[in-house]
Amino acid sequence: TFKAFVLEKEDQKVDAALKDITFDQLPEGDVTVRVAYSSVNYKDGLAVLDKSPIVKNYPFIPGIDLAGVVTESKSDQFKEGDNVIVTSYGLGVTHYGGFSEYARVPADWVVPLPEGLSLKEAMAFGTAGLTAALAVQRLEDNGLTAGQGPVLVTGATGGVGSLAVAMLSDLGYEVYGSTGKETEHGFLKQLGAAEVIDREEVVKKDNRPLNSQKWAAAVDPVGGKTLEYLLTTVKTGGSVALMGLAGGAEFSSTVHPFILRGINLLGIDSVFCPYEKRKAAWERIATDLKVENKLEGIINEISFDQLPETLSGILQGKVRGRTIVKISEE
Ligand code: NAP
Repeated sequence: TFKAFVLEKEDQKVDAALKDITFDQLPEGDVTVRVAYSSVNYKDGLAVLDKSPIVKNYPFIPGIDLAGVVTESKSDQFKEGDNVIVTSYGLGVTHYGGFSEYARVPADWVVPLPEGLSLKEAMAFGTAGLTAALAVQRLEDNGLTAGQGPVLVTGATGGVGSLAVAMLSDLGYEVYGSTGKETEHGFLKQLGAAEVIDREEVVKKDNRPLNSQKWAAAVDPVGGKTLEYLLTTVKTGGSVALMGLAGGAEFSSTVHPFILRGINLLGIDSVFCPYEKRKAAWERIATDLKVENKLEGIINEISFDQLPETLSGILQGKVRGRTIVKISEE
């Protein structure tokens, strides 16, 4: 047997507990991985709710990220002893995830750990880091270069946000971070933010279709009224990379920013991102987006037992940076 964080549902209530389970309880898959680290993302917080928008079938093991060592493989692509990363697709959503000492997954979901990255570092990035890297890539593909003006990262102390701040500043961009956490301005400066602004200042409060042009680009894990603000303040030809809804799923806009300023709204989806792009993003994470000197400050490491409190904290916007979960010895 081995340990896993198992969700069971009874009378509309979800009960989460560390349990001993067996290999035959794991789902089908070509590759079995001994998990060294997992991490906690916003989506994992949603997964453990009684009325989860993420998990539909119980019992279930959440955890949308994992990094570990292959112990068994039916695929030619991977062999016993390979270090791998698994994220996205159904992991921790429809398929048992990373909060487990072992996981069994389809080979298509597995990315080889790139050279230059440890299993622990891989989970310091996890889905949040992959998403931040995909956002940086999309912004650059759409013409962003340093010197065009400040780039705003919203929800800047969160997982996606803090990594986006660190990555963009290491690439030489002038980064502004917006946050609701008054006590964390220093943290964002350490990550390379040139300026930190209050969350309230980046919320749309009027009905004007356009406001004065401020941002060369933005990375937005917040959405809602913050996205409305961004669309009216991004400079001509600039882009907003949108990946989240921490501040709301709905937004409204006029066509004006698009037809009068030619701005781009770039949707970032890490879940079904094609394999080659995913692999390329991980390669960048291991090289120019590695934020080597900043990573330690972003990571908070917890054990299996601390999962419940961290999972509820992340939905309340209390978590800073990235929380990694040590699952077993490397
Ligand atoms: P996270 O660590 O909880 O970060 C979210 C941050 O947003 C918080 O730390 C907070 O930052 C800010 N925030 C929270 N509640 C807010 C509110 N009511 N209004 C305004 N800001 C608020 O979560 P994450 O894992 O980075 O994920 C962030 C978002 O991106 C989530 O919606 C997640 O589902 C989404 N996401 C999407 C993808 C994709 O593939 N599209 C991948 C990863 C994540 P401050 O306190 O600094 O303001």
